[in-house]
Amino acid sequence: MTHKLPYTLSTIGEFGLISRIAAGVSGHESIITGIGDDAAVTAISAGMQLLTSTDMLLEDVHFRRSWHLPYCLGRKSLAVSISDIAAMGGIPRWALLSLAIPPKLPLEFVDDFMRGFLAMASEYQVFLIGGDTCSSRSGFTVSVTIMGEQKPGIIVRRSGAVPDDDIWVTGTVGDAALGLKILEDADIASLTGSKQPKQSPSNGIVDDSPFLINRLLDPTPRVSAALALAESAAITAMIDVSDGILADYGHIAEQSGVGGCVQLDDLPLSASFRRHTAHLPVIPYHMALSGGEDYELCFTAHRSSREKIVDCVKKCGIAATRIGIVTSSPELKVVNRDGSRYTAQTEGFNHFI
Ligand code: ADP
Ligand code: MG
Repeated sequence: MTHKLPYTLSTIGEFGLISRIAAGVSGHESIITGIGDDAAVTAISAGMQLLTSTDMLLEDVHFRRSWHLPYCLGRKSLAVSISDIAAMGGIPRWALLSLAIPPKLPLEFVDDFMRGFLAMASEYQVFLIGGDTCSSRSGFTVSVTIMGEQKPGIIVRRSGAVPDDDIWVTGTVGDAALGLKILEDADIASLTGSKQPKQSPSNGIVDDSPFLINRLLDPTPRVSAALALAESAAITAMIDVSDGILADYGHIAEQSGVGGCVQLDDLPLSASFRRHTAHLPVIPYHMALSGGEDYELCFTAHRSSREKIVDCVKKCGIAATRIGIVTSSPELKVVNRDGSRYTAQTEGFNHFI
């Protein structure tokens, strides 16, 4: 059959697209029936409990098509779900992918999106077992449901933090928020015709923009560190940092019935973050506290576990930093080195505010 280029969803139709997606999917012994029937059938390993989570990504709410190459968007769509399972100490296993596609969207976009999605899936041994496909009258919409499994004693909840535990975070925070700011400024610059930020400066100065933007557009879920921490039994509560450390630790605090005191100076900032903001009169800590989408892990643990934790994450190739202490008073505060209170400018991302 010949089609006029460019192909779109309306050229090949819903079932054409499903066959195209199914053709790129690999099987696994845990999948008894995958794509193609009314429901998928999977086998959970003996003694394991099922973990399930779902997330939506909407054009112009969660991503902009002008910033996000479809390949990276595909990767990120699954990465954020993998991160949710990891934050429970779970092993990510199976995913369902629902797509709402504008009929005129080039098929190449969907193909690239799927290549990214399936690359992420294969990196983390997650298998696509089904989904739904329909046309959209507005933007491109993605919904991913992920399932994972874990032994009941290893699953880590948000509710286990106790007063005097340390508050930890993996990697660095604030990079994704700064990446977003760089993209926004570049957009404004191109709209107003002013000079765009330099992409590759000469004279030996490092351009940190690509690293920071990449942290936003192509996040890495911290699966091995999360699993190692959960299996070590050293941690009491865990969450992934999707809405900013303040908001996300706030969820741990709320669910555990505790508060917290975060030391501003202890927040782990990347070398790129520091260099890129070095010209500013003050370090933009609000990006590290309240900027979302870093997909690091925030967790709590008794002080006797400090060494164990450092070892555990080091083996996974990342670092973990103590950023504060769980308190019994329900208040959540951020303090400067001298103990004075830092007033955060904004809280984490909240869809309805
Ligand atoms: P039903 O009408 O029973 O909902 P569909 O025609 O929607 O079935 O889907 C047929 C098969 O294709 C199902 O196994 C479904 O899970 C799978 N599927 C549909 N869309 C997708 C997608 N975007 N990604 C992966 N699998 C999909
Ligand atoms: Mg369907």
